[in-house]
Amino acid sequence: MKTLNDKIALVTGGSRGIGRAIALILASAGAHVVITYRNSSREAQAVVEEIKKKGQESVAFQADVSVLKQSEEVVEKITSQFKRIDVLVNNAGITKDGLLMRISESDWDAVIDTNLKGVFNMTKATLRPMLGQRSGKVINMTSIVGLTGNAGQTNYAASKAGIIGFTKSLAKEVGSRNIQVNAVAPGYVETDMTAQLTDEQRKLLIDQIPLRRTAKPEEIAHVVKFLASPEADYITGQVICVDGGMMM
Ligand code: NAP
Repeated sequence: MKTLNDKIALVTGGSRGIGRAIALILASAGAHVVITYRNSSREAQAVVEEIKKKGQESVAFQADVSVLKQSEEVVEKITSQFKRIDVLVNNAGITKDGLLMRISESDWDAVIDTNLKGVFNMTKATLRPMLGQRSGKVINMTSIVGLTGNAGQTNYAASKAGIIGFTKSLAKEVGSRNIQVNAVAPGYVETDMTAQLTDEQRKLLIDQIPLRRTAKPEEIAHVVKFLASPEADYITGQVICVDGGMMM
């Protein structure tokens, strides 16, 4: 039997990058997977088709995680179709980098609203069915930048550090209901988010990674799959760095 046999999983930002890899790997482990996206409907539909080819059910919903009402609507549709939600992966995220003095109020708000408030919105909506079921796994995508800070990313690092505080607090709140809440902190992963780095910036970064290479999205997704599985039932409130050793 597969580790996630017939579990219902929701992956935000499942149309591209790390979220796409998570959705596909959860489906390979036996889950039925709902993904959300903001703009990329063609890419989202392609992920749905790939999941269906694996024999699992899949749906994509266009929903902005920064809007509570849209998050609630997604969860309502899932519970009416699938009757439960076993796994929530809060993966959707954006960057709007710049030195603090150059970050506009709207860029600050966009990053905090998507990355941090988005986690609040989706988790609040999903927790109701999980509390009723007395089981569930919430996995939040943070970043090593939320632990170390990074010049030029005050907004992003604040959102990712906020996710870590959220994860630990919620883990304490809902542990008695058999709901595990963990965070995964990737280092540098090859996706659209990191594609704009120059060769020189990339080389400087790789010099700081003990494994001397960047990560593939699948290498993050495998850790998410483990945290979503019954094998991780005794793990909660943790931040798992998947960073080639950068945080050592
Ligand atoms: P990506 O390739 O840019 O993909 C981002 C995904 O999030 C897309 O599916 C996007 O949907 C979705 N999204 C963005 N804003 C949204 C919103 N308001 N509502 C719903 N969905 C939204 O990014 P990635 O590199 O895979 O990153 C995924 C997560 O890992 C993020 O939380 C990121 O901070 C984190 N992370 C990434 C790295 C890295 O090196 N790449 C490192 C550490 C942490 P559309 O396709 O519709 O735009």
